[in-house]
Amino acid sequence: MKTMKFKPFDIQDVRLLDGPFKAAHEVNIAYMFRLNPERLLATFRENAGIPTPAGIKAYAGWESPDCDLRGHTTGHYLTALSLLFATDNNLEAQQRLNYMIKELEQCQDKFSNGYLSAFPEKVFDVIETSGEGWAPHYTIHKLLQGMLDANIYAGNKTALTCAVKMGDWLSNRCDKLERAEWQKLFDKIETGGICESLANLFLMTGDKKYLKTAEFFVQYSKYYPALKGIDQLDNPITGNYHHCNTTIPQFIGLFRLYQATGNSDYLQATKFFWHQVALHRSYASGGTGFHEHWNYGPDSLSHELDYQAQETCCSYNMLKLSKDLFCEEANPVYADHYERVLYNHILASQHPENGRMIYMLSLRPGHWKMFGNEDDAFWCCQGTGIENHNRYGEAIYFKGEDELLVNLFIASKVSWKEKNVEITQQTNFPAGNISILKISGHPGNFDLRIRVPYWAKDGILVKVNGLTLETGAGASFISIKRNWKNNDEVELDIPLSTHLEFLPDDASKFAILYGPLVMAAELGKSGMPSIYTNNNYYNPPPDSFLSKDTMPEVDIVTSKTDWIVETEKPLHFMIADKQKEFMIKPLYSIYDQKYHVYWQLKRDNP
Ligand SMILES: [Zn+2]
Repeated sequence: MKTMKFKPFDIQDVRLLDGPFKAAHEVNIAYMFRLNPERLLATFRENAGIPTPAGIKAYAGWESPDCDLRGHTTGHYLTALSLLFATDNNLEAQQRLNYMIKELEQCQDKFSNGYLSAFPEKVFDVIETSGEGWAPHYTIHKLLQGMLDANIYAGNKTALTCAVKMGDWLSNRCDKLERAEWQKLFDKIETGGICESLANLFLMTGDKKYLKTAEFFVQYSKYYPALKGIDQLDNPITGNYHHCNTTIPQFIGLFRLYQATGNSDYLQATKFFWHQVALHRSYASGGTGFHEHWNYGPDSLSHELDYQAQETCCSYNMLKLSKDLFCEEANPVYADHYERVLYNHILASQHPENGRMIYMLSLRPGHWKMFGNEDDAFWCCQGTGIENHNRYGEAIYFKGEDELLVNLFIASKVSWKEKNVEITQQTNFPAGNISILKISGHPGNFDLRIRVPYWAKDGILVKVNGLTLETGAGASFISIKRNWKNNDEVELDIPLSTHLEFLPDDASKFAILYGPLVMAAELGKSGMPSIYTNNNYYNPPPDSFLSKDTMPEVDIVTSKTDWIVETEKPLHFMIADKQKEFMIKPLYSIYDQKYHVYWQLKRDNP
């Protein structure tokens, strides 16, 4: 088993303080508690032959009794409740979690082989022979990981028992399959992160049976090219090859296999994949893909600035991968990506009043965010969505033997139990540029490392107990080694500034960033239809649901940003083009109105 260089703090050791992330977390809690556990259990009971309580019916959309993916939200819900219990000691979350696990165990007990699902097992018979069917392994992964998370974050022992039985059931099935035949089927089907959960089950139990089954789910036609450093992610050889949200979890699975076995080939393939997706196939906001796929080669983004860009699940999964790879290498490129995605996609994906989520984050000029209906959408991105806003404490701080890394400037408090130290980070970043770290407890000697983001061109100014610290230029982390005392205080001055990011394949199109924030133009509501839908976005929506705007042309000098003028309102800027004025603000804070993200240089610009 591989030991990582650094690890994130357990989520129960990090508490969010007031700020945009805590606000999103609280809105998510309210949404989660509006969901009815009985309705999330209904199809499981039906499948197990257990009567559903009177008056209860399953949800609609992707949770309806005739949808192949039914049950996936229940798995995410187990994880989201577990995270909520861990982050906030939320006892209602624990109560709901324990109840649902108990009921799901009863459903599982109706099958003699450990099967647990909201759909019949014959779905697996069909997919294993023909490749036909909509992603049953994907759905089982959500449920299996939900069970593991209930054990990890909330200490539910029954959940681990259920997970072991599920692992046994799947291992027994896979043992009967021919590996070569399976590899042929692989390109037709979507197995999602099942490899990751099985590897996790091995890491938690030590039973090699699960490791063997996890490796059964390594798709050679993706793994070996990545190992050789070949990016063929856009090559539609077969059905699922270039499907982003199938492929990213598969590489999370490979990383978990690296942790489980120490086989550095798994790491090498994962690193190559991450670099291609994060650095060559992602928009300024950090999201990737179009219509759930990679359709063009690396560094080709200009054709797909449309309403189906950037599935939110992909960002959820890329955050997992960035965090994992950061633990392995502490390379700041992973932390920069994490911050970019966190602000510009994940925080941007929630309606800040009712907690509903988007599927895609549109980049179509003048388009808007479409949020799922409360009762009849339940897309994949709603499932990952209820987890997203409970995970904000996951990657703010990391720890080594004698190091504490501050990676994100988010108001929060972290307890480093091994060192008897607490650090409180007080900041209103990004609305302000000061962050204060207050150290308390009985700290002693350790190395406090502050991440210097890629966008902080002039570095960070650091004061320790009021005295300016000399820091070397160009470092990715500022290291402060000392014998820390109770009430020591570190002040970080992190200057934010505007900069432009041009598309790699079209130097006339760009996004505007302020520090890590992608800025978007506010365009009002005129001509905008409802922003709520159960449309799954697979098919083009009616014409009336598509913005007819074109990308705004601006007559500017790109070597300067003095045409972006700060206003008195924090994080609000004016762009004074010769023809028109635009107010811009962070993409994450725009909802219920139309927006522009990308801009076009005036075509006769010198
Ligand atoms: Zn999704």
